[in-house]
Amino acid sequence: MTNLDTQLIQGTNRTEDASTGAIVPPLYFSTAFRHPGLGESTGYDYSRVTTPTRALLEQQLAAIEHGTQAFAVSSGMATIDLVFSTFTRSGDAIIASDDLYGGTFRYFDTRRDNYNIPYTTWNGQDVNDLVAQLTPATKLIWLESPSNPTMKVLDIAAVAQAVHAVRPDVLIAVDNTFLTPVYQQPLTLGADLVVHSATKYLGGHNDLLAGAVVVADPALGAKLAAQLTTTGQTLAPFDSWLLLRSLKTLGVRMRAHTANAQFLAQKLAALPGVAKLLYAGVGGMISFYLADGYSVDAFLRGLHVCSFAESLGSVETLVTVPAVQTHHDMPEKQRLALGITPQLIRVSVGLEDQGDLLADLTQAIAGAKA
Ligand SMILES: *Cc1c(COP(=O)(O)O)cnc(C)c1O
Repeated sequence: MTNLDTQLIQGTNRTEDASTGAIVPPLYFSTAFRHPGLGESTGYDYSRVTTPTRALLEQQLAAIEHGTQAFAVSSGMATIDLVFSTFTRSGDAIIASDDLYGGTFRYFDTRRDNYNIPYTTWNGQDVNDLVAQLTPATKLIWLESPSNPTMKVLDIAAVAQAVHAVRPDVLIAVDNTFLTPVYQQPLTLGADLVVHSATKYLGGHNDLLAGAVVVADPALGAKLAAQLTTTGQTLAPFDSWLLLRSLKTLGVRMRAHTANAQFLAQKLAALPGVAKLLYAGVGGMISFYLADGYSVDAFLRGLHVCSFAESLGSVETLVTVPAVQTHHDMPEKQRLALGITPQLIRVSVGLEDQGDLLADLTQAIAGAKA
């Protein structure tokens, strides 16, 4: 692959549309494709199976994640469902890192309760603890790094090495939504599957719901392709085109997210209203505990530039309260054990002027003091 920024910006521009020389790839809405004759096809038959704009996006997703094949689907949750419905059966077991996107836990709970696929959790620190949990039933390991919302960093390469040394058949899936391939390429670290909620950084503008699955092994890719044709949760052409457009600026956006987040992490940690700040050092996600005696509700109502809203990864700064939003479905005891207290605030740092963001958060925190 060429360097990532060049691939992101130029990698999808030289399409088969040589007749016009268009710099930007065309958008094909057609669901059906004419056949020249019996047994002949252009390669496109029906758009659930494959369609040119989504195919171009999938080539690009595979390239930037160092995979051989990618699948663009209708949401981040659809990626999890695609992986699970393809690779797990009743009686299989999975192991997950313990601090995940709340919706992922909700999905695991339904698989456990309705399909007999139990899961255990790993705290993401000592790889030996994870290896000790492997049983003959273990089929899949699910990781998120840094974790959500407490920003624990996992050693994906160490997990892949230790697990595959004893169980080469166990699949390791990494949700790479937070860091994106700009900062982390799980397939090069030994993971088998990478998933994204492309709704977040890959899309980057709070206007697109999408997901991506990328694999290195063509045999896994063939199984996913067959399953996706069967279940049909593919990404529509217009959304595929929007995501192609968004990916062009992924590199520059991620670096700007990091610069703003590093600045805010340092400044916010020094405020008296901030008891503790959590940041992985890279990427745009920070979390902090509002000190005792500060009202979360007053803080949220006091924001004028940042929005109190439930998503992440966009140019707009969004502030979330995981205990009542993203992780509300998790039992309270489990939430508290993970440090997801009612005072924990998660900030998806956007690309506004960093001084304006600091001023907004600082005044809202100060105004929240009882
Ligand atoms: C949002 C999110 C998901 C779910 O993605 P949707 O696009 O909302 O379906 C999965 N994993 C992570 C880390 C997320 O942030």
